[in-house]
Amino acid sequence: MALVTIDACQGCGACLRTCPTHAITPIAGGLTVRADRCTGCLECLEICPVDAIRVVEPSEGAR
Ligand code: SF4
Ligand code: SF4
Repeated sequence: MALVTIDACQGCGACLRTCPTHAITPIAGGLTVRADRCTGCLECLEICPVDAIRVVEPSEGAR
């Protein structure tokens, strides 16, 4: 499950290098997060200098 989404990416590549599961993949015009690889560790969110990465849903169904 993809837990993050990328909006205003500046293309610095930091998240690509940081993601432990290589879930972040370049596509035409930006980046995408592969749902089958993202573990929700949020390391990409921490590393992004422009806060382009957002959590799209909680990892658990807890409520
Ligand atoms: S949350 Fe973790 S696993 Fe998912 S894309 Fe970001 S760095 Fe990769
Ligand atoms: S760290 Fe942020 S600005 Fe850099 S490539 Fe990833 S999403 Fe884009």
